[in-house]
Amino acid sequence: MANDAAPSPDRRPADGGPFDAIVVGAGFSGLYQLHCLRDRLGLSVRVLEAGSGVGGTWYWNRYPGARCDSESHSYGYFFSRELLEEWEWTERYPEQPEILRYLNHVADRFDLKRDISFDTRVTAARRDAAANRWHVETSAGERLTATYLILAVGCLSSANVPKIPGLETFAGAWYHTGEWPHEGVDFTGKRVGQIGTGSTGIQAAPVIARSAAHLTVFQRTPNYSVPARNGPLGAEFKRWVRERHDEIRDVVRTTPNGHPFRIAERKAFDVTDEERRAIYEAAWEKGGLQFRASFRDLLVDKRANDTAAAFIKEKIRAIVKDKATAAVLAAIDHPYAAKRPPIDSGYFETFNRDNVTLVDIRARPIERIVPGGIVAGGREYPLDIIVFATGFDAMTGPLLRIAIEGSDGLTLKEAWRAGPRTYLGLQVAGFPNMFTLTGPGSPSVLCNLPVAIEQHVEWITDCIAWLRANGVDRIEPAAEAVESWVAHVNEAAAATLLPTVPHSWYLGANVPGKPRVFMPYAGGMARYRAICEDVAARGYAGFVLGGSDRAAARPARVGGFAAAAASGSVGV
Ligand code: NAP
Repeated sequence: MANDAAPSPDRRPADGGPFDAIVVGAGFSGLYQLHCLRDRLGLSVRVLEAGSGVGGTWYWNRYPGARCDSESHSYGYFFSRELLEEWEWTERYPEQPEILRYLNHVADRFDLKRDISFDTRVTAARRDAAANRWHVETSAGERLTATYLILAVGCLSSANVPKIPGLETFAGAWYHTGEWPHEGVDFTGKRVGQIGTGSTGIQAAPVIARSAAHLTVFQRTPNYSVPARNGPLGAEFKRWVRERHDEIRDVVRTTPNGHPFRIAERKAFDVTDEERRAIYEAAWEKGGLQFRASFRDLLVDKRANDTAAAFIKEKIRAIVKDKATAAVLAAIDHPYAAKRPPIDSGYFETFNRDNVTLVDIRARPIERIVPGGIVAGGREYPLDIIVFATGFDAMTGPLLRIAIEGSDGLTLKEAWRAGPRTYLGLQVAGFPNMFTLTGPGSPSVLCNLPVAIEQHVEWITDCIAWLRANGVDRIEPAAEAVESWVAHVNEAAAATLLPTVPHSWYLGANVPGKPRVFMPYAGGMARYRAICEDVAARGYAGFVLGGSDRAAARPARVGGFAAAAASGSVGV
């Protein structure tokens, strides 16, 4: 899309609308969606945001050590050359406060805040088929109306606090990393218990250990991690980035996972054992998510993956001095990167500190929380603070906590009882004119998210522009298009090692009772982009256009997506 920031026309409906579009969420996706619809298409748009400021994930996740695992020069918007030229990141991986400053800069630069209602949580959305409108309700009882409902609620915004008996009796303080107090938490002199060793826990533990009197890490599933090798960016690298915005954009838009590096062409057994080891050593030294790009078959061939897994386990055993602790950390039971691979700044080294203890709660599960701490394996660990780094009800959670009612009273909860079903991750049958950004069935969490977000937002913007230009008042996917997309999402996942991990949040396994469905699209972002472009070019193939609600029951005017529109490797 062109980078045309046309002045917004003064089309400002009354407080409740009717608006052309309501966007829920003012994170990376909601901000850009507002800019596109308001400033490019001239639509009236209201953004509703639960937080008191912009930022989404980066507004809420203020836990110690919170930073992005994507490299800073790829973590941002590419749509505006001016924005690219005026913003300079300071570290290889930006820290949460810097990302929040960036998003505030974007919001101010494009004058977005005037169309955002902060402190406004959306509780319900109901479709009025006759009027072809969406009615939205907020926790304060406000009611707003719009033609299009765009859910930019993020994939990881619904905190998962496990129901451990006795939590309410705990005499100390407890926090979930995704809802961290804005004033921070002082760990000085405190005995801290941290539950969870995913990407978040692995970032938080080294920082907490530096100020706490004692840190006890409760580990259920051991995890791989590769050093991030974070550090300040030098003048030379900053110049290199300044001179290569176009090149970097082209790379992130054409790789399977949206990162600023290519996945190696070679396979793990194309090289000798010595060469493979040297490649892993070099990747370990370089640090970051690029480690998984060392060979192209790591995520599809278990034998290839075993070589990376063995290398990292050996590193863990070499770093951690206490043999028993090292054994518990290295007892990893899943293929490398088949769960989201963390990167760290001194995570395994943290267990060499005198004030850090690891508790293997897989062997000795947590029984209960008592006023003085956590009881696991019959032993009480005395604590002043508990940190839940226990993740999120990912992808579907943020959507399903809004009571969404589509055509004929069909609720999203009912429609997704057996798991999420979308077309392209963008729309749900029975919910006309409702779009999901980075929704289930899209590459989303398997991709560097701003890259996925720009693609979604621009596709939705072009789609709405096309509908308006062609006098089409509603769009929803045909049932058979959803059917074949869900089959394709499953097929793409099955071609990888990802669905083989039973305890993965990609499958919803971290939330008791959640349907086990592999949620993100593992066919790769570049391939997904080509499929979406092809669908649009064929007059929105697979969608039912115009007519009345419940159109999904009718076949689409033009068939569905064509997986052959593009080929590509897995997007992980
Ligand atoms: P997560 O990956 O879901 O990890 C949660 C951890 O808590 C796991 O170790 C899990 O163990 C444990 N856990 C959950 N419920 C538990 C229970 N009832 N008892 C004991 N342990 C329990 O969550 P996360 O670390 O917050 O990361 C979520 C995602 O956010 C990441 O995968 C990533 O996509 C994103 N993230 C990104 C960044 C970044 O880019 N900077 C940073 C952090 C997070 P099991 O494995 O056994 O379930």
